Amino acid sequence: MTIPYGRQSISEEDIQAVVDVLRSDYLTQGPAVPRFEEVVNEWCGSSYATAVNSATSALHIACLALGVGSGDRVWTSAITFVASANCAHYCGAHVDFVDVDNDTYNMSIDHLEEKLVTANKSGTLPKVVIPVHLAGQSCDMEAIKRLSNIYGFRVIEDASHAIGATYKGAPVGRCDYSDVTVFSFHPVKIITTGEGGVATTNDQELAARMALLRSHGVTRDPNQMFNPPHGPWYYEQITLGFNYRLTDISAALGTSQIRRLAEFVDERHRLARRYNSLLVDHPVRIPWQHPDTHSSFHLYVVRPDLGRLQATHREIFERLRAQGILANLHYIPVYRHPYYASKGYRRSEFPNAEQYYSEAISLPIYPGLTDGEQDRVIAALLEPRGYQTLF
Ligand SMILES: *Cc1c(COP(=O)(O)O)cnc(C)c1O
Repeated sequence: MTIPYGRQSISEEDIQAVVDVLRSDYLTQGPAVPRFEEVVNEWCGSSYATAVNSATSALHIACLALGVGSGDRVWTSAITFVASANCAHYCGAHVDFVDVDNDTYNMSIDHLEEKLVTANKSGTLPKVVIPVHLAGQSCDMEAIKRLSNIYGFRVIEDASHAIGATYKGAPVGRCDYSDVTVFSFHPVKIITTGEGGVATTNDQELAARMALLRSHGVTRDPNQMFNPPHGPWYYEQITLGFNYRLTDISAALGTSQIRRLAEFVDERHRLARRYNSLLVDHPVRIPWQHPDTHSSFHLYVVRPDLGRLQATHREIFERLRAQGILANLHYIPVYRHPYYASKGYRRSEFPNAEQYYSEAISLPIYPGLTDGEQDRVIAALLEPRGYQTLF
């Protein structure tokens, strides 16, 4: 039996919620989407939620709603999924990266500040900064907010990993320190809608712009129109938008899943604690948790001491994979991808991201992972070199 690094947990209630939509009048643009947006707002304590067909779409329309365009600069973390950076390129903006912190692997506040000081002198400050809550642990949002006040950038939290997490006791997504927060509902994430995402905000105007961009830039609200309606059929396209809508089928699954969000996060914490205890007294760094945060533990990232384990990073991955354990690496530094590499980023600017990439391993973690499977993972991780040839 192979063990993936993450997977969904689907209940009979989830299945019934989807079936109910399939038997209803609306498969899309019906009541399930606003209902899901309502429960996301209830969970997060945010004022507005715009549900879309992926977090990638949410990042794109969040950038556009904040006015990101050609010639602008957007900064994100060096260690993230490519979507956190691609959204800026969709808008014609330039992307740059901030190195990660050595303890949390989130955007380093020191490197961010250093880069801002330099950019301020050369007139190249970013319009938007996108901190990423890696593995589900919130970034130091208070520090990022303080810097945004000084240097005038806007903030989009890429919380794709972090629904169900808290920062300073408040739910991630409440946007206390940001303009917009984005969540992903891909099946490997904390809760799922199949594909899907949402953008939360407390800014009514941003929410209205994102709602417009989600559906072709078309409005049926006479107050937004340029002309008086010609009749009851009338709608107007008032900007260039997309079809980024979430279906009612997906939204109903999301509304059902969010009921178990607290339970999912608790179970992920139990699994993380169990991994921690299995790794006590072994030369493997466990995920460090900042006291201001309560992670959703989307990922459980370890950093083995390769010297003491007498194995290369690649050998450990190959050993795990050979035993059906689909450990993964989150992530390849974005500037290393060929699409980005040609744009002239210098690896030497990101020493922590480079070191992280040479050591990090995401071990399987998801509700449904059994104690026996966890034991198998740890045994494979710690297996002494030459074990197979000895016996
Ligand atoms: C998964 C993920 C995304 C993209 O989410 P989709 O819903 O698949 O578009 C963006 N950023 C990060 C950090 C992610 O992990």
